[in-house]
Amino acid sequence: MVVQHRNYVGGEWVSVSAAREVVNPATGAVIATVAESSAADVAAAVRAARDAFDSGPWRTATAQARGRLLFEMARIVREHAADLAHLETRNCGKPIVESEMDVQDAATCLEYYGGLATKIHGETLPVPDNALNLTLKEPVGVVGLIVPWNYPLLLAMWKLGPALSAGCTVVLKPAEQTPLSMLEFARLVHEHLPELPPGVLNVVTGDGPVAGRALVESMEVDQVAFTGGTETGREVLHGVARSNLKKVSLELGGKSPNIFFSDCDLDAATDGALFGVFINQGEVCSAGSRVLVQRTIAAEFLARMREKTARIRLGDPLDRATKMGPVVSREHMERVLAAIERGRAEARLVAGGGRAAALPAGCFVEPTIFESDNAAWIAREEIFGPVVTVIPFDDEADAIRIANDTPYGLAAAVWSRDIFRCLRVVKAVRAGIVWVNTMQPCYVESPWGGYKQSGHGREMSLQGQDEFLETKQVHINLSEAPLAWY
Ligand code: NDP
Repeated sequence: MVVQHRNYVGGEWVSVSAAREVVNPATGAVIATVAESSAADVAAAVRAARDAFDSGPWRTATAQARGRLLFEMARIVREHAADLAHLETRNCGKPIVESEMDVQDAATCLEYYGGLATKIHGETLPVPDNALNLTLKEPVGVVGLIVPWNYPLLLAMWKLGPALSAGCTVVLKPAEQTPLSMLEFARLVHEHLPELPPGVLNVVTGDGPVAGRALVESMEVDQVAFTGGTETGREVLHGVARSNLKKVSLELGGKSPNIFFSDCDLDAATDGALFGVFINQGEVCSAGSRVLVQRTIAAEFLARMREKTARIRLGDPLDRATKMGPVVSREHMERVLAAIERGRAEARLVAGGGRAAALPAGCFVEPTIFESDNAAWIAREEIFGPVVTVIPFDDEADAIRIANDTPYGLAAAVWSRDIFRCLRVVKAVRAGIVWVNTMQPCYVESPWGGYKQSGHGREMSLQGQDEFLETKQVHINLSEAPLAWY
């Protein structure tokens, strides 16, 4: 049965005039239709969020009440975790085991920010004795949340948790390909959490250049928090500049180096190299898509990577034994395959290189390994699929030079038994997240975000909540003496 979804606006389900189909990338089947929102449909959601912020009970709700609502949301997510994970996998193709972890992480994120709601506070500042100077932390207001398709529910919660905890009201736009888990989250909240005032949470679906742009350029939105590609991020900044100069945070792309020195444990390291890039079909902003290997071990390293890659199980993402599902859509599969073709012109193909022939109905791409230097196009461009380039290096200085030779700066990892070398690399690499002898662990307690063209601001952690708060300075004159200036 094809389920028909509507927008969630002002606490109600609202129909719009156009619809779009949502496809299961593992089978090609249409599994739902969702609203194809126009700019006017988005404006209606913004109005609901504006009213809820300006005159609704949310603004005067206590921090404890906001925190409790977030804990309730987390409880609802955990209670419906199996259904949410199943829906996520059917919509975006990620292996069910990974969707289950995402859903638990989504609940943990809501709990973390539920707890933080009561820890928002300003400071008193050491001004001269005849005055009292302090800061108040206040919610930014109405925020537009725009999320991509690779971790649809989890990345939505990374933004929703801190925004609601701070006291903002939100309009969230999921990616056009993967709106279902967020719509289901809204349905569950609507059904089980009547205490949430209408208009605090709004969800609009639709196309980025129409619905996303309408949010970005709305004069009534106070902030946009965006996760997506670097070029789209540039568009978002233009839109913000064209409209009301709203606050903006950007979590963008990457081409992260995963660096292996010759003294690393080869077995653990090659597992780390593959996990670092092929988890979630390589559709990960922090994917270790450049594997830098010290030249003395490069041949052995590549041989082991190739041998382990041949064992990666591609297939039905609902099967618990599957390690890699389809990429998100036919269009994206064509893009990844075209990138692989272009890669073949400059780089040596070591493994994979095409569509998985045994799975013709779905958007399955073989895990693909190239070897080249860092100048090759395939080593520089974010492919956002199961494609990795192995790049040999000579020594520590060479590794650091190559690692930093990219416009991106989201993440990096370094593997060696020499902790002093690891720490030198940690300090030298220009990236927002650096792992040592591992890659990809991610915790809500710790900040996430990039240097250089990987974005502005940080998500998660205390800093992630600060993104949704304004700081107001309050200065109180304590002196009874007149100013006597004129
Ligand atoms: P896109 O940039 O294509 O889309 C991201 C979101 O922006 C989608 O909701 C999209 O809508 C919307 N959008 C598209 N155009 C506009 C526009 N002009 N104005 C406003 N919104 C718009 O990215 P993908 O969905 O393809 O996601 C992949 C990218 O996300 C990769 O580059 C990846 O690195 C990055 N990413 C970064 C993360 C980080 O934390 N740094 C985490 C995860 C991903 P629609 O899809 O409906 O068109």
